[in-house]
Amino acid sequence: MQNYNPYENMLHTLDIAAEKLGYTRNDYEVLRHPERELKVSVPLQLDNGEVHVYEGYRCQHSTLRGSAKGGLRFHPDADENEVRALAAWMTIKNAIANLPYGGGKGGIKVDPKTLSPRELERLTRNFVRRIAPIIGVNTDVPAPDVNTNAQIMSWIADEYSVLKGEWSPGIVTGKPIEVGGSLGRNEATGRGCLIALQGYLAKKNLDIKNMTVAVQGFGNVGSVGARLIAEAGAKVIAIGDSSVNLYNPNGLNIEKAYEYANANNRSLTGYSEPGMITITGQELLTQDVDILYLAALENQINKDNMKNVRAKIILEGANGPTTNDADTYFFEKGVDIIPDVLANGGGVVVSYYEWVQNKAGFYWSLEEVNERLTKNMQNSFEAVWQMQEKYNVAPRLAAYMVALERLVIETTLRGYNC
Ligand code: NAD
Repeated sequence: MQNYNPYENMLHTLDIAAEKLGYTRNDYEVLRHPERELKVSVPLQLDNGEVHVYEGYRCQHSTLRGSAKGGLRFHPDADENEVRALAAWMTIKNAIANLPYGGGKGGIKVDPKTLSPRELERLTRNFVRRIAPIIGVNTDVPAPDVNTNAQIMSWIADEYSVLKGEWSPGIVTGKPIEVGGSLGRNEATGRGCLIALQGYLAKKNLDIKNMTVAVQGFGNVGSVGARLIAEAGAKVIAIGDSSVNLYNPNGLNIEKAYEYANANNRSLTGYSEPGMITITGQELLTQDVDILYLAALENQINKDNMKNVRAKIILEGANGPTTNDADTYFFEKGVDIIPDVLANGGGVVVSYYEWVQNKAGFYWSLEEVNERLTKNMQNSFEAVWQMQEKYNVAPRLAAYMVALERLVIETTLRGYNC
């Protein structure tokens, strides 16, 4: 889709949310502009001796509520607009989850699959050196996102700590348990999606048992969420990643697919099971299912394909997978969306718990983490639901309104606009 600008998408929803709440531009103008943006050139000497220079970004959209907080994406399509939108969505998401965090995001324009493990490590460390002037345990704390994982977070923690001269695990979240990660962080985003889905189904008096599900994206958010949704009793009939899309009307064996992908560089290529066929990515998105779980990238359901979508509920594990046009279309058609800024908040909630544990030097059990996560997600869901009912608006707009109300109160109390 040409001319898609995710930051404009965010501003559009923010403006409508403000209008509904009766705010003037003066009340929230500050939130329409990212606070700080850094663009860096990241050098890398490849294993063959050649030197390549990659573009990298870190955007701190807001530090109103606390440290900028948000992931790092390594992807060939990463650019300033994408990172800016993702950072702003983090501001909204963190306010909905009521965390003492602002919003940030970063990335490198690179296809990490073209790099060897040693090249990936050197690129990560060089990126940390470039963004070190603006990140910090109390200023800006990165985390994993698309194509970044616990190992990469571990290199970031190590590189930053070397620069700082002291072990600083709180500089980044999503680390391996052995280097200060939190139990439950790896599953947190998928688990949060399930909790949000369950909140929605309870309000609608619907039972997850035997509901059919199609899942786009089979990385951290997609595979963990699919597993938990299947465990809860739903039938996942389609899954797909950037390499292949699979369909089995009788339900796929998600546990087996999960193990396969984990052992296969997180890819479903080559996976097979009885009764399964391959389909196209668009066929996956337009399956006649109860739930379409989007867990890949932004701009997946848009003007071009929205009318072909047959799912009754859209669960947004990814950030920004549905454009404004599609959002309006689904609201009018009565298709419910459990929006990204609410549904995928579980990741940053447990990132916050990880950061708190790092600062305290005191670590929690998995039960404690999951119990707190569940409570937090339920509170967020309830706040959004109440807003939705009060103003008779779509869930995404209600979610933005919850966030905006909190952000405007804080802006006013702090005199942030003076
Ligand atoms: P990941 O890299 O682990 O997985 C991404 C998945 O999407 C992979 O399976 C990849 O093959 C697939 N994919 C990429 N392009 C695709 C395409 N065109 N069609 C189908 N599949 C495609 O990333 P992740 O951490 O799971 O993140 C997925 C989404 O969730 C992103 O939007 C991210 O911003 C969002 N998110 C992630 C977290 C987190 O904790 N990791 C938290 C909140 C939101």
